[in-house]
Order: sequence, then structure tokens, then C-alpha cells
Amino acid sequence: MSLYLKYRPQDFKTVVGQDHVVQTVQNALKHGALSHAYLFAGPRGTGKTSMARIIAKALNCLSPAANCEPCNQCAICEGINQARLVDLIEIDAASNRGIDEIRDLREKIVFAPSQAKTKVYIIDEVHMLTKEAFNALLKTLEEPPSHAYFILATTEAHKIPETIVSRCQQFTFKRIGMDDIVQRLKKIAIEEKVEADADALKLIARIANGGLRDAIGLFEQMVIDGVIRYEHVAKNLGLTGPVLIETFFRSLMEKEPMKALAAIHDIHAQGQNLIQFTAELIAYLREQMLLSLDKKEHIAAILRFIDIFSLAKQQIPQAIIPQLPLEVAAIKACGYMVQEPNPPAEKKEEAKLKKRETKKEEIIPAAEPAYPETTGAVAIKNLTIESVRENWQRILDHIETPFIRMSFMDSEPVKFEDGALHLAFTSATFKDKIAKATNQAEVHKALERVFGGKITIKLELKKMNLKPDADTPKKKEKPNVITMAEEVFGQNP
Ligand SMILES: [Zn+2]
Repeated sequence: MSLYLKYRPQDFKTVVGQDHVVQTVQNALKHGALSHAYLFAGPRGTGKTSMARIIAKALNCLSPAANCEPCNQCAICEGINQARLVDLIEIDAASNRGIDEIRDLREKIVFAPSQAKTKVYIIDEVHMLTKEAFNALLKTLEEPPSHAYFILATTEAHKIPETIVSRCQQFTFKRIGMDDIVQRLKKIAIEEKVEADADALKLIARIANGGLRDAIGLFEQMVIDGVIRYEHVAKNLGLTGPVLIETFFRSLMEKEPMKALAAIHDIHAQGQNLIQFTAELIAYLREQMLLSLDKKEHIAAILRFIDIFSLAKQQIPQAIIPQLPLEVAAIKACGYMVQEPNPPAEKKEEAKLKKRETKKEEIIPAAEPAYPETTGAVAIKNLTIESVRENWQRILDHIETPFIRMSFMDSEPVKFEDGALHLAFTSATFKDKIAKATNQAEVHKALERVFGGKITIKLELKKMNLKPDADTPKKKEKPNVITMAEEVFGQNP
């Protein structure tokens, strides 16, 4: 038996998250004033048909307990629990037999119940009935025999004709809150002797989006050898929708750029729409922002994420490499902000350079080439450090291999001297990667595409300038942006 059926609520007190319905129904039962027709509307898996069966039991139980709770032991309760009581008629309106069953219902409803006190009709997915079937049903609802009760259930109440709705007392079943679902899953875990991460249960609850049936179904699928782990759930429930967003957000909060980049890599590799993903992420961040106002934590980090990813979303359509803006955003969000070079010094440098360049209109000779493959490269005319900076994004966009781009992103154009573009790296590892002939060739190609000529580059190292932001507590061991790149994209050839 599936866990959902096993743990399906069997009485009013075990119904999760629908207190408003339970209270009203119990009250009506107590006063013998139960309506003959109910319409239960609400998302899937929120307990509509379970509640309908509990009502059927409560109406017919041979020895009801306090608060009109069914005993779940008498012949009637057992008959309903085992789905063999003929006086409980369940109709699936979504099946082809819907219309026949409604016709059948009309013919037989006049007959008294055979075993129980009342006949209870549960019509699930009632919005699926044809117009004809609705008309047949309406006639019955207009004058139901005193021994008959109707419970109509639907996920789409707006599709039910007003004539039907007006004959019913309507209840809206709410999506079940995350906490309620998590609590229920915890109970099941204990009963089933399953060892479950609290985070894994939260993730399941989030994916189930207020549907307890889905949550229990997912719980069941995610058990491996009596254990449920967050990583397993995140990995298996896919790189789509809420799970992916949740995982991505988590990696940002934990300042794990490697995981964030891996996620982006996967989304892109799967051909998913990056703009859509970013839009969903921003919607999720907004949710977190509102939650964080209550909890008064992480608000600064979340606001910053919203800024960073809103900008990235705008940049994606123009980017030559579509995932690049997201990658940059993720790295920034993880707290890696490379400081701008010292502006006054740079201005002076540029001014000097410009003066010299305007003076001599000759081709700037390629200085002693730093790397063999640049030998013979002729620097293009009139290139200024300014224009390199202006075109930085374009240069990055032209570097196609992810790990080369990642490595190159670590550098900053600092000066243009003796015909060579000087790039300063914060990390020696990235510098070394770019220094490799094959990798450097790709950078040259990108520069050539942007500036229309060969440019010599000189690589240098500057003092590490990473400044993780202060609003989230630092983890003991921050993954370094280099190993991150290696792990995501593999070692370079
Ligand atoms: Zn009973």
C-alpha cells in the first residue's frame, strides 16, 4: 500500500491544514444540520476526497465517538475504509463513464440505502462533467431524497455552472502550509523508521506546493535504504522549477559559487530558458524577501541578490554567451567582488597614453612577446585602455570555452604600454591558465574579433582583492573561485 493511502486521514482530527472545513462540518453534524450538497474546491492533494469519506463515515458510523468522529471499527466504517460499502458511491467525472454514471445515479438515487443510514455520492473532478451530465445532476440536486448526500470535489471551481454551485455549500480547501506538511512528513518518517534530513523534508514540502498527497508521494520515492538526504532529493527531483531555484538560492546563501555555476551549467546544457529561470529566481527571491522581513534575517543579502539578478536578466538577451550574465551574477552574489582599479592613477596613465598615441600615429610595435604564440602579433592602431575597458563585456562574450572565460574574468585591463595590453589577475591560478598557449590563443581570437587586429597581452598578478560581503556569516572554508572553475568546467587541456 502506498504511504499516502496508509497515512490518509481517517477521521476529522487527523485532517491536516483545513481546520475551517473540519470545524464547520463537525458543528453541522453535531446539530444534525449537515447540508445535502457540498462543493469542495481546492488544489490537488489537499484532502478533499479524504474529507468526503470521513463525512460519509461520520454520517453512517454505528458507534461514533465524541465530536461525531467515526469509530473506524464498525462494519460501516470498515466498509468505507476498504472501499466496499455500496452506499458510498464514488464517481470520477474525468472518466468516460461520467455521463452514464450520472444517469445511473438519477435512476437509483430514489432507492433507500442498502446497508448504511444514508447514501453518499462523491463526485470527483466534477468540473469535467458534460453540460448534459450537469443538467442531469442539477435535477437531482434540486430535490435530493432525504437519505442522499452529495459531495462534489473540484480543482477548478470556476468551471462549475452557477446553477450547481448555488445548490451547494461551498468550501475552499487551502494549500497546506509548509510547516504542516513538514510536521506530517516527520511523523511518517518516525512511523516508517526513515531517517530524514530536516532540509530534505522542507524541500519536499516546497516542491509539493501545498499538496500533502504529492508530498507523501515524493517522500516515498526519495527513501533509499531507510534514509532521505537533501542532496539526493535536490538531485533527483530535477533541475527544474522550484527545486532548482531552491538549490540555487541555497548555494548563494552558503556562498558556494561552484554549486551555483554547476546549476547554471546544467540549466543551459538542458536547453532550458535562462531568462525564464532568472524570472522564476527573482520571484522566489521576492518571496524570501517578504519572509525575511518577518524573521529579520538575511534581508540585506536577499535585496542584493534581487539587484544582481534583475540586472543579469536584462543582460541575457544581448549576451553572445547567454549564460555568462547569470554566471557573473552568481559569483557576485556569492560575495566575490573584484575591486575597481585605483581611478586617479589609471586616469593619469590613460591621459599620458592618449597624448603619446595622438602624437605618434604609427603602428605600436609589438613589444617583446611574453608568450611564443604572440610572436609576430601586430598591435592595432590607436587602441586605448579605455576602449578595452569599454569593450570588456564583448571580449568576455567572445571567449567561448567556459573555463577560459572564467579565468579571464578574473583579470582586469590595467594599462596599455609599449603596445601590450597588461592584464592583472587576482589569482595566480587563473593567470597560469591564461598563460597556456592554447588558452591564450582563444583570448587573442576574442580580442581580434572585438578590435579587428592582433593584440599582445602581458599577464601580471595583483594583490588579492576579494572581499566577501559582511551580511551573511562566513563559512569556515570558502571554496576558492579557481577550484570552483576547475570543478565546474574540468581541468583545462
Ligand atoms: Zn464506525
